[in-house]
Amino acid sequence: MAQQGRRVLVTGGSSGIGLAIARAFRDAGEQVCVAGRDPAKLEASGFERLQVDVCDEAALDAAIASAPPFDIVIANAGGAATAPLMKMARADWDRMLALNLTSVWLTARATVPAMIREGQGRFIAIGSTASVKGYAYAGAYAAAKHGVLGMIRSLALELAKTGATANAICPGYTDTPMLRAAMDGVAAKTGRGDVEASFAAINPMGRLIAPHEVAAAALWLASDAAASVNGQAILIDGGETA
Ligand code: NDP
Repeated sequence: MAQQGRRVLVTGGSSGIGLAIARAFRDAGEQVCVAGRDPAKLEASGFERLQVDVCDEAALDAAIASAPPFDIVIANAGGAATAPLMKMARADWDRMLALNLTSVWLTARATVPAMIREGQGRFIAIGSTASVKGYAYAGAYAAAKHGVLGMIRSLALELAKTGATANAICPGYTDTPMLRAAMDGVAAKTGRGDVEASFAAINPMGRLIAPHEVAAAALWLASDAAASVNGQAILIDGGETA
């Protein structure tokens, strides 16, 4: 695959991990398009943009069809809500699965056929350490992220002879607006002053992951060097799941 000027779609590319990935691909000479809901955040990113809710099947299909095909797709949009599984409302469960699992499949269904036609491409989902282990009070999120890995492994087998690949990057706690909001929520609920330190301590390295570390893995997966890497979960977690 040519290594510059490829078309890259990053869902959720207006913030956090997605923005770091968008910037890394731009800096590598690729043409980046970001997708998200908030027009102000999209505009501030400075990238070509698709304003769309990745959970809205018809809108997502139309938005992707309106753009030239993508060589590399990073299905990154997602979000976490916390609740004890036994007290969770059905609507909240459904929302977590729609945002973190179904949207990844919808994004693949709208973009991967073009990769198959071209005989090349990279589909990368942003999973989580919650793709391979459970977390108390994040059961729906973990169920969705485990599902992402099952879908990616299956897609990888379906793509194996096409020249395209599918993989997941699974970060541990990463310093983004989403995590900051979650830590603020815990601090407000508990009155604790050491919330950031307690999240950092979950990583054996004793720190949060930086978004650019996740972006570096995406760049590598999109390189020729990773042509044989297919159906994998790349854990970026300082050893949390080791
Ligand atoms: P942020 O909240 O910083 O960014 C999320 C991005 O997704 C934003 O651009 C947001 O834009 C977009 N987004 C959210 N919902 C939708 C939607 N329905 N349709 C379209 N775009 C949407 O989160 P992070 O960068 O932290 O998270 C990115 C991914 O990384 C997620 O999948 C998350 O689960 C995963 N992850 C994060 C970890 C962390 O500790 N931060 C750890 C492991 C995985 P807008 O709101 O405008 O739509």
